[in-house]
Amino acid sequence: MASEAWPADALEEVPQCPYCGGTDRTLALGGVQDWAFGCAPGLWSYWSCSQCHALVLHPRPTKASIGQAYTRYYTHGGDQRVSPLGRLKQRMRNEHWSQMFDTSITPRLGLPRGLGWCVTWLKPWIAEPFGLRQWAQLPKGLLIDVGCGNGDKLKLAGHLGWQARGIELDASAVQAAQAQGLQVEQGGYELLARYQGQADCLVCSHVLEHVHQPLHLLALLLAALKPGGVLLLSAPNASSHLRRHYGENWRGLEAPRHLAIPDATWLRDWIQGQGFACTQVPSHPLETAIESERMRRRALTTEPADVQAAKAVLHSMAPATLAEQDVVQLVCQRAKP
Ligand SMILES: [Zn+2]
Repeated sequence: MASEAWPADALEEVPQCPYCGGTDRTLALGGVQDWAFGCAPGLWSYWSCSQCHALVLHPRPTKASIGQAYTRYYTHGGDQRVSPLGRLKQRMRNEHWSQMFDTSITPRLGLPRGLGWCVTWLKPWIAEPFGLRQWAQLPKGLLIDVGCGNGDKLKLAGHLGWQARGIELDASAVQAAQAQGLQVEQGGYELLARYQGQADCLVCSHVLEHVHQPLHLLALLLAALKPGGVLLLSAPNASSHLRRHYGENWRGLEAPRHLAIPDATWLRDWIQGQGFACTQVPSHPLETAIESERMRRRALTTEPADVQAAKAVLHSMAPATLAEQDVVQLVCQRAKP
């Protein structure tokens, strides 16, 4: 893989930062390869935008060729087998969240309300997925997940009473979602243009960094919300504390699929500048630290030693400020008239 180059005629220059339009930049990381999935050829460089601090892949694959970087990508529609222990853990998590938000997320243990304490002690060990709290607490209506994969979040949102729809580019992921009875359309994020002013909630999780024109995606997302509607947006953060530690091995890079990685503070300020109220929610860095350890070994599967090493790294670091979160997670609400 490393010995192969990305075809030169399928590369394009990126003269301006895709976020702020700035042209002044410095080389941040050179010689980066696809250590995340080991499927895309090429050696890549990420540049740090002097104006907005985004990490910009330059040169980058053209829109017409980027699909070649997604062969052997996530197996969206693939093996859904879960071990008996995994199933028990899932039921305990769902029971915990059902009790916490006074709802019912299945499959669960089915404990009566008074026995909620049996699972609430698990709280420190169960990372709450970003968005769950908002889905449980916001008034229900139309929810659209842009880049929904095989629809796990749609299923959860449906359980919580949302009319959940998905948009997904990957045909096998769309098939897997539709086979479960979920409403998913195949296509790019441009399909959002049909929903102008209609969505009560939008989910856009780890899509922004994959697209050639992130500002176009952001504009379509913000325009698709109803007044009072909420966008749940997440992406790797160019100013992550883990990026500083792991450098070229940082999981957030994922060359050449991650084309432009925003800076958390800049992204929040930009969305606020469009008239949206924006709150940042802290992320849980353990999973990406484990993945970064795995990439540091140039391996494609994690081992228990990666978990131990990642925990030791996080233990040795000062807690990340909001500006340094590994993943930027924003709750953006469109103003009511
Ligand atoms: Zn910039």
